[in-house]
Amino acid sequence: MTKKLKILILGGDGIGPEVTAEAVQTLRVVADLGGHDFRFEEKPIGGVAIKAKGSPLPDETIQAALGSDAVLLGAVGSNEFNALPPSQRPEAGLLKIRAELGGFANLRPSFAWPGLTGNSPLRPEVVEGADILFVRELLGGLYFGRPREWDKDNNAAWNTMRYTRDEVTRVARVAFELARKRRKRVTSVDKANVLEVSQLWRATVTELAQQYPDVQLEHQYVDAMAMHLMNVPKNFDVVLTENLFGDILSDEAGVITGSLGMLPSATLGGKVNLYEPVHGSAPDIAGKGIANPLGAVLTAAMLLRYSAGLEEEAAAVEAAVKQVIADGARTADLARGDKSVKVLSTQEVGGQVRNVLAARTPAHAAR
Ligand code: NAD
Repeated sequence: MTKKLKILILGGDGIGPEVTAEAVQTLRVVADLGGHDFRFEEKPIGGVAIKAKGSPLPDETIQAALGSDAVLLGAVGSNEFNALPPSQRPEAGLLKIRAELGGFANLRPSFAWPGLTGNSPLRPEVVEGADILFVRELLGGLYFGRPREWDKDNNAAWNTMRYTRDEVTRVARVAFELARKRRKRVTSVDKANVLEVSQLWRATVTELAQQYPDVQLEHQYVDAMAMHLMNVPKNFDVVLTENLFGDILSDEAGVITGSLGMLPSATLGGKVNLYEPVHGSAPDIAGKGIANPLGAVLTAAMLLRYSAGLEEEAAAVEAAVKQVIADGARTADLARGDKSVKVLSTQEVGGQVRNVLAARTPAHAAR
């Protein structure tokens, strides 16, 4: 069945537009091959929006995002605006668009790409075969709980880690549903030996698990989990956790992939799903055409899977990425100074992915 999708592109700053362009071209190839109707609209966010419209997230961008079927974002941030207060900086646009769209389930896969395991600081035999999907709760916990305050008169400060049963249930449901389509294992991470909020978390997840008898649930304390992730990353399938723990653990697990430029993400459950590579605007390499586009391309694959329902096509994009890595395609971050490796540009690597995709039988013709 052909799919019709309105996709809002927010390239943003630095390497954001460079890598997003490769993701969009990948989506165009998928649309052409499958006879799908993808419409793209572009709007400003971040530093470019401050310059053009006087705000890191102009109203027109918010409206376009809310009127779209999916939002694909590059990155925001520019040293030019470092003197501004945080609320006026490019990064404020990112926090605001996430809040406007209201997604509560942040998905971050960490995959050990064959051919790149030597890039990880972990030994290849530890990393090989690792394939983890983090499901991080994004709208609750310590980052949003109240009261929160820095009481300067008394030299004290506090934040509140708060969750309701409903908030835990909805994100846990996402994790169990995703596990069903993978290796059917959920590891729920908390600190239930110390925190009441984690006891609620554990009790809620345990109760929900009864609705998923086909999925194996285990609980881990966050401190032990930080160690297990580095010792035995291949033991984990879906990792479900709250906001702060997920922020830290998913970054830690990023080392499995060998480069920040390889990490995609999706945020689901809100009004419109938001897709963005994990990396930032990388001002140190912006405008040089050397950024790794694969994190953005893999982000486009997540968009195909979760917003278009095109699982086969999403898997084809991921397989194409695997193929170009196996073929030796490397941007500078992946070559890591190895002089024997031919370093390719952003566009060359993106082009190789598209070539592999285009060489496949068109999905609609194969059916
Ligand atoms: P960064 O992710 O931009 O860069 C960290 C390092 O990784 C740099 O050396 C960079 O060159 C490299 N890198 C990142 N992405 C790469 C890619 N695709 N290919 C090759 N190398 C890549 O993080 P930073 O330097 O801490 O932050 C730079 C700016 O980005 C700041 O303004 C920060 O606030 C912003 N930021 C934005 C986001 C986002 O938009 N989601 C995320 C993180 C940081």
